[in-house]
Amino acid sequence: MRVVVAGCAGFIGFHLCERLLNDGHEVLGVDDLSTGQARNADDLARHARFRFVRHSIIEPVRIEGAIDRIYNMACPASPVDFGPRRLFILETCSRGVWNLLDLARDKKARLLQASTSEVYGDPHVHPQVESYWGNVNPIGARSCYDEGKRFAEALLTSYRAAHGTATRTARIFNTYGPRMRADDGRALPNFISQAMAGRPVTVHGDGSQTRSFCFVTDLVDGLVRLMESDVIDPVNIGNPVEISMLQAAQEVIEMLGSRSTVQLLPRPSDDPSVRRPDITRARTLLGWEPRVDRRSGLERTVAWFRDEAARSGT
Ligand code: UDP
Repeated sequence: MRVVVAGCAGFIGFHLCERLLNDGHEVLGVDDLSTGQARNADDLARHARFRFVRHSIIEPVRIEGAIDRIYNMACPASPVDFGPRRLFILETCSRGVWNLLDLARDKKARLLQASTSEVYGDPHVHPQVESYWGNVNPIGARSCYDEGKRFAEALLTSYRAAHGTATRTARIFNTYGPRMRADDGRALPNFISQAMAGRPVTVHGDGSQTRSFCFVTDLVDGLVRLMESDVIDPVNIGNPVEISMLQAAQEVIEMLGSRSTVQLLPRPSDDPSVRRPDITRARTLLGWEPRVDRRSGLERTVAWFRDEAARSGT
């Protein structure tokens, strides 16, 4: 198949492209490199069936020839981006998704949208089931992302009703693995780079807030299965094993044999207190569940961070 991956130079986008190339597809990777890394695009470009198109999806996306599938992974997604890039995020989630839907309609392609557990906000239902509408502050510190992604889900729903375009919606929960940026600002990259350097490991609040971390290859497998399924309703893709941030920090320190201590910092506003996917829908409709446990996933991620540090001589 001929597949477009928007956001190909991002963390999940890169791994998705790699998987699609390994499956024998031709991949057109689109990225404006605003938060994606040129190196990811360069590494993919070594593959004969990959072509990189530097382009922002905020502008209409024109691609010659037939297209079978479009994965939209394009959007800054780290909470540290929610301040400086707030308008860009809203534009990406609205105009950007719209442009890709127009492309899907014109090419009669199927589009999968990377939605997020953030649509559930600071949830009152735990674990989160897809039928839960969420608890989101529309004017809060995270609202550009949360409401942007919620708008995108509404747009897919209406666009499909109006034009008959085939869409899929993956609600992606916290994901980790090699090629996360050390300066990405998220919990695991922070914990790993801090523990490696022997610096204090920064835990927000008292660290009792929870997340459930999915290794990236598992996540990508869920995305591909969803795309190739006939499921048009949103599906949670994530690992249901839940851990507090304090536990996660201690686990990383211990795994690295680091002398780092934990430093408690103020908690960001609207930070969800709990997060864990109910993956019954993915299990029953896609035959999917995560396979990589946290220890081996973290080991592979730490190995990547060590290689990166050695490369850059830090
Ligand atoms: N967090 C933390 N220390 C950090 C970075 C994040 O304790 O250095 C917390 C953050 O406040 C949140 C959780 O870890 O409660 C997960 O944050 P992350 O930015 O990884 O992603 P989120 O799930 O909030 O999108």
